[in-house]
Amino acid sequence: VIEFRSVTKSYGTTPVIRGIDLSVAQGEVVVVCGPSGSGKSTLIRLVNRLESLTSGDILIDGHSTASYRGAALQRLRTGIGFVFQQFNLYGHLTAAENIALAPRKVLGLSAEEALSRARELLKRVGLSDKEASYPSQLSGGQQQRVAIARALAMQPKILLFDEPTSALDPEMIGEVLTVIRQLAETGITMLVVTHEMGFAREIADRVIFIDGGVILEDAPPEQFFLATRHPRAQRFLRQLL
Ligand code: ATP
Ligand code: MG
Repeated sequence: VIEFRSVTKSYGTTPVIRGIDLSVAQGEVVVVCGPSGSGKSTLIRLVNRLESLTSGDILIDGHSTASYRGAALQRLRTGIGFVFQQFNLYGHLTAAENIALAPRKVLGLSAEEALSRARELLKRVGLSDKEASYPSQLSGGQQQRVAIARALAMQPKILLFDEPTSALDPEMIGEVLTVIRQLAETGITMLVVTHEMGFAREIADRVIFIDGGVILEDAPPEQFFLATRHPRAQRFLRQLL
């Protein structure tokens, strides 16, 4: 579904992603980890082109996306859900309105259809009773679950998560991970940047360790956590565990 081909990304003259080849299959859950500044966020932001490529290409369903602009880029993004560390909800909209907005504006659903989709999704993330609440009236964990529902509202084939729990108080991490775990089981393709290694081990089909903008390790979780070969990955894991 997603294929990186010799992808590089520089900010000015500073290379941040330095030649990444990576294939993610339909339904696969790939966890991306690595030290701060290693390029994790940049890597997944390249997929829906929140960052532009410097060289190389990313194929989605076999289609080269390197040259996508305008409407093509818009369509690409419509099929890819993105959940950020900071939930980025609209403060002046209720939970249901946050979720219904894009389906109405982008997919052209009627207000009623969009609202009913929003309600279904709120139920799915365990927030049926929060439909009319504004973000400021929700806990961090609840806001992040609304953000996940909002990403799902566009019925994406691919979901990207950038440290979805690292802005949360510890007691709220579990409820968000539970929702993501349920999604992983639905067969949606996911790229997840996280420092939650126990969670990674549970949900990942593969774990990718990146450092300095290159992939140093790409392995099934059992192998990554029990028998990492790369010294830098070993050091990274020791610091976390
Ligand atoms: P963290 O774990 O701290 O989130 P990360 O692995 O996600 O780190 P990135 O955010 O991808 O790392 O950043 C990789 C490198 O690119 C860092 O050195 C960062 O300073 C740099 N960088 C990121 N965004 C920009 C930008 N917009 N302009 C210039 N440099 C940037
Ligand atoms: Mg990051």
